[in-house]
Amino acid sequence: MTNAVDLEKRFGAANYAPLPVTIVRGEGVHLWDDKGRRYLDMLGAYSAVSFGHCHPRLVRALTEQAGRLDILSRVYSNDRLGPFLARACELTGMDRALPMNTGAEAVETALKAARKWAYTVKGVAHDRAEIIAAEGNFHGRTIAVTGLSTVAQYRDGFGPFPPGLVLVPFGDAAALEAAITPNTACFLVEPIQGEGGIVVPPQGYFTDVERICRAHDVLLICDEIQTGLGRTGKLLAYQHEGITPDGVTLGKALGGGLFPVSMFLATDEVMGVFNPGDHGSTYGGNPIAAAVGLAALDLLVEDRLVERAADLGDYLLARLNALDSPAIAEVRGRGLFVGIEIHERAASALDVVEALMGAGVLTKETHRNTVRLAPPFVIEKAEIDEAVDCLAEVLDDITAEALAPSASH
Ligand SMILES: *Cc1c(COP(=O)(O)O)cnc(C)c1O
Repeated sequence: MTNAVDLEKRFGAANYAPLPVTIVRGEGVHLWDDKGRRYLDMLGAYSAVSFGHCHPRLVRALTEQAGRLDILSRVYSNDRLGPFLARACELTGMDRALPMNTGAEAVETALKAARKWAYTVKGVAHDRAEIIAAEGNFHGRTIAVTGLSTVAQYRDGFGPFPPGLVLVPFGDAAALEAAITPNTACFLVEPIQGEGGIVVPPQGYFTDVERICRAHDVLLICDEIQTGLGRTGKLLAYQHEGITPDGVTLGKALGGGLFPVSMFLATDEVMGVFNPGDHGSTYGGNPIAAAVGLAALDLLVEDRLVERAADLGDYLLARLNALDSPAIAEVRGRGLFVGIEIHERAASALDVVEALMGAGVLTKETHRNTVRLAPPFVIEKAEIDEAVDCLAEVLDDITAEALAPSASH
C-alpha cells in the first residue's frame, strides 16, 4: 500500500505542513501513530477536542443520530435542532442562535447580522457600515474575514478585500473609541487572542470596551470559537469580566471534536434582522450536528468540565510559571488555554514543538514564537506533570545546546 502521507503530499494542496507523524487512533488525551507509539495530545485540535478524543457519549450521540436521520437542509424542520438551540441559548444567556458548520461561517454570519443591523436598526446609510476588529486577530479564512487579518501571509495574494474593515490595537480601549464613527456596526473581538499567541488583554479592557460600545450604539461581538465552552475556566471567556456582548460565535468544541458545528448567538434585536432566505447553509443545523452539539453541551454541564478546566488550568499555569528556564520569555493564559513564549535567541517555537513530539507530547507553535497548549479537559494532573516535565527537559537540552561552544566556529 502506498504510504498515506505520500498520497496526501502528492494529491493534496500544500496549504498545511504537518509534523512528521501519522496518527491512526485517538482516545481521551491520547493519540497513537501508525507505528503504535502513544502521544499525549496537548493541542486538542486547537480546542476542538475539549472532551477528549472519541468520547463514548458523543460517539453514541453521533452514531445513533446518523442511523436514524441524516441531513435534510432547513427546508423542513427536524426534531433535533430546536432542543440544541434552546440549550445553547439557555447556557449562554443569548436570545437566539443561528447554526452553521465551521467557525469562519459563524463569524461571517455575525458580520452579516451586524451590517444588516446597522442599516435597519441603527440607520447607517446604504453600504457604509464599518466593522472594527483587533490587530493580531484570527477569525477564520474566508475572504471577508481574511480582510480583517494583520498577518501578511494570510492576506498576500488574496485581495481585494471588502471595504469597511477597520483595525485597532488589541487591549487598547481608547483606540477603539477613537476608531468608532457614526457608521460603525460592530466591534468583533476574541476575549483572548488564540492564534495570535494566547494574548490576554489587560484587566478591565472588556469592561471599558462594553461601555464604549454601548455609548456609541456599536454592537459588541465576541468570537469565542476557541476560548468558549470552558476553555479558559469559564463557560465563555468574556464572563471573566462580567460583561454581556450583543452576539457571540461558538465553534470548535461545540462539535465535540467529531463533527463541524458552529453557531452565532445574539440578542433578539440583532438576530431579528434575518428573514427567510436572507442567509443559510445546507448542512447548518442538520440533525447530526444538533444531536452532537446538544450532547456536547450536556456533557460540559453534567461532568462539570468548565470547573475542571479552571482547576487544572490553575495547576498547569502554576507548574509552568515555576519552570525557571532561561528559554522561556513569558507564560500566558487562562484555564487550559496557555501559551509559552520562547526567547527567539534560545530557540524557535517549532524546534520546541518538534522536540516535544520526539518525547511523545503533541503541541503546536503559533505567532510570537509561542508554544500553544489546549489539552482536552479530561486530562489528569499526572498527565499535566508529564507534559510539563517533558517541556522542562526539552528546554534544558535546547539551552545547553545554545550555550555550548559550536564546533563549526
Ligand atoms: C479557529 C477559529 C476560527 C475559525 O474556525 P474554522 O472552523 O477553522 O473556520 C474563528 N475564530 C477563532 C477565534 C478561531 O480560533
